[in-house]
Amino acid sequence: MSDAPLILLVEDEPQMRRFLRVALEGAGYRYLEAATGAEGLVMAAQHKPDVMLLDLGLPDMDGLKVVSRLREWSALSVIVISARGQESDKVGALDAGAHDYLTKPFGTRELLARIRVALRHAGPQPEEEPVFVLDRWRVDLAKRLVHVEGKEVHLTPLEYSLFTTLIRHAGKVVTHRQLLQEVWGGAAGAQPLYLRVYMTQLRHKLEEQPSHPKYLRTEPGVGYRLVTEV
Ligand code: CA
Repeated sequence: MSDAPLILLVEDEPQMRRFLRVALEGAGYRYLEAATGAEGLVMAAQHKPDVMLLDLGLPDMDGLKVVSRLREWSALSVIVISARGQESDKVGALDAGAHDYLTKPFGTRELLARIRVALRHAGPQPEEEPVFVLDRWRVDLAKRLVHVEGKEVHLTPLEYSLFTTLIRHAGKVVTHRQLLQEVWGGAAGAQPLYLRVYMTQLRHKLEEQPSHPKYLRTEPGVGYRLVTEV
């Protein structure tokens, strides 16, 4: 097995994939490809690539969503490759957590230079564990699956986002303001009351005794905390 850096391409256009496969393998990189966002996320979790090249216009989800889902569990370097060249597209991708942005069409030499920069910045990374396990809970952050005692539990997107935000800050108090910002994106009108409603739902789905939560604790007047040691 070569220890050349591994590049994962997430791109739905076969021609573009062919072009990039030739360019990357020609430059000595190991190469993997996915044609949808969901497939790309699973491959990122399974193969732990060094850099992801990501198209924004994918058939199943927007590339920005791929970046923000990836950021729930991974610090993998992402270079967006897109035909969308507006400044707002670039800012959106970088804000979502991409490291770099290339507008199509681009030359092979520029792409390879950007990959080298991304690899330099990446450096040795701690092993990211895309699965969170606590007592009866198992959360696969790459596949967005939540199991309680081996049984899959369906969470709505907001419940899931609230839960994974608490997981990211496990053990620490997360303030109302921080949760509203991270889960609702600071949408106007989002209030602590929403949090109470969603937290109640979450406890009903995940806690053994929802009215006496063991892990999803209220920090009165401040926020919530996912307790990892009881
Ligand atoms: Ca596309």
